[in-house]
Amino acid sequence: MTALMYGNIPVPYSAAWTAEDGFFIAPCPYANGLNALHQKSSPAQGRPTFAKPHMNRQRESLFKGLCDICACQMRNRTKVSMSEERWTDVLGVKMPLVVEPLCCRSCARIALAQCPHLQRQIKSGQIVVRQVYKYDVVCSQLTGDATMEFAGIYAPGTIGHLKMRLRKSAIRSLDWIMEEA
Ligand SMILES: [Zn+2]
Repeated sequence: MTALMYGNIPVPYSAAWTAEDGFFIAPCPYANGLNALHQKSSPAQGRPTFAKPHMNRQRESLFKGLCDICACQMRNRTKVSMSEERWTDVLGVKMPLVVEPLCCRSCARIALAQCPHLQRQIKSGQIVVRQVYKYDVVCSQLTGDATMEFAGIYAPGTIGHLKMRLRKSAIRSLDWIMEEA
C-alpha cells in the first residue's frame, strides 16, 4: 500500500479529514467489543488534520499493528514512534504512553523529508523519536462531557483512542532515521 498524499506531503492512514466530522457511539471490534466513539469515514475528502487521529482508523492501526503512513503490517519491521512524550506508571515502572500509531523506518524517512514542521518539532524536543521493541495496547475512556461534545450523548466510559505503552524502546536521532534500514 502507498500513502495518501496531500500535495507532496504523505498523509498518515490515521489522520482525520475535514469531511469526517461526524461521531456516534457503538461497539468496536478493536476495543474488545466495548462501546466506543466512532467517526464518519470519508478519507481523502477535504483537508487532512494531522493532529487529530481518526477514531476508527487509529484503533484499527494500533490493534493490527499497521504503519501510520503506508498502513502495512509492521510485525517484522523496525518500528518508529514519533510522538509527544507522556508517561505512565505500570506497577512502579515508568514508560512512555503514545497515541500516534507507529510507522516503519522508510516511511519515517519519507515523512521527515517532506515535512519541515515535523523536523522542527523533533529538533525542539517537542516530538521524541524512538525505536520501539516492545509495547502493549490499552483502551482510553472518555468522560461524559467529551462524548456529549462529540456525539451529543452523555456516556462516560466510552472508549476513545487506543494508547500504546512503550515497554521497551530506545531514543533515536534524526540521523538514525535517515540511515538506510
Ligand atoms: Zn510504512
